[in-house]
Amino acid sequence: MTTLRWGSATDVGVVRESNQDSVLVAAPLFAVADGMGGHQGGEVASATALEVLEGTFKGATSSEQLLEAVRRANAKVWDKAQLDEQLHGMGTTLTAAALLTDEDGKDIFAVVNVGDSRGYVFRDGALTQITSDHSFVEEMVRAGEISAEDAESHPKRNILTRALGVEPTVEVDIEIVDPQPGDRYLLCSDGLVRELGDDQIAAVLRRLKNPDEAIRDLIAQAKAHGGHDNITVVIVDVQEEGSTPEPVNHKRSIVPPRPVSNHEPGVFTFRSLVFVLLVAGLIGIAVGSVFWYARSSYYVGVEGQQVVIYQGRPEKVLWFEPTIAQRTDVMINDLLPVSVPDIQKGETQSSLDAARKYVANQVSQAAEARQVAGSPAGSTTSTTTKP
Ligand code: MG
Repeated sequence: MTTLRWGSATDVGVVRESNQDSVLVAAPLFAVADGMGGHQGGEVASATALEVLEGTFKGATSSEQLLEAVRRANAKVWDKAQLDEQLHGMGTTLTAAALLTDEDGKDIFAVVNVGDSRGYVFRDGALTQITSDHSFVEEMVRAGEISAEDAESHPKRNILTRALGVEPTVEVDIEIVDPQPGDRYLLCSDGLVRELGDDQIAAVLRRLKNPDEAIRDLIAQAKAHGGHDNITVVIVDVQEEGSTPEPVNHKRSIVPPRPVSNHEPGVFTFRSLVFVLLVAGLIGIAVGSVFWYARSSYYVGVEGQQVVIYQGRPEKVLWFEPTIAQRTDVMINDLLPVSVPDIQKGETQSSLDAARKYVANQVSQAAEARQVAGSPAGSTTSTTTKP
């Protein structure tokens, strides 16, 4: 039989004014949730998720029941967000671990995860992450696009690719671990791992055997490194066989919602919507500008032999084809041969009126030239040569 000993704490950190993290200790179920969403949304999301998780899980023994409890938590957060306009778009991470039994009646440790809170196991002096982060940068790291070091300072490291309560259903990761005497399981929100590297965390777990002392030390170090975010830590120790469990504080704590004045940039919800609208707006402006450029001008050209005034640009602009604004009764042969190539290429004018004037001008120049050519003065010129 596996005996557990545990501790937990949550801290607002140094920078934030409110704590949107929630923590659940209801042995054999343990969880952390890091809420996000403006106007109390974050606190409501994380607290709601853990309340439903606990209520649904009560008495459960299988990993399928644990997964079902997470799905119910998702549905509840989603429903709440739909019913209250001020909570629209709220969501939360959820990382939970539970001591369960498999089909053979053997003890197992099941770790479920949605988002970027983490579950670790510290075994034989080594710290290993059990969960995978559902974050934009983590997916870039997995795809080999950026390094793990780059990820730590990446501007998009707050963006989650999966969170609880932002859609009616959610995909939940589950990992099954075979608990060994001496194992230490660590659940934490990103406020801890953002400040402390795995080596620093491992050093504390190696040094301080009492879970509460280790948690106090981890939180103090995270705050000393800046404490930019809320910090939540749960440690669950698998007792060595024959050891006597020390009395520890088993008080269950769900952080109650509190008013919020700043909130974490969150999942693909409100922020992404604003971004999408911005991009759509910019595309609209660009298309509008091209359209305006394409259509704001006129030119004189030909269709067959007929001189025609087009609206548009002789050089087709993107997919905007010029259209005929006016047909004239002038044929290309009526004009001066010297003007023909320009008109065939398209003679651009600033307005329809200017284009009409240009045509009229070409017609009168051609008429003048014919008059000159056909007049006696014309033949005089041609014959006025030196005697
Ligand atoms: Mg956080």
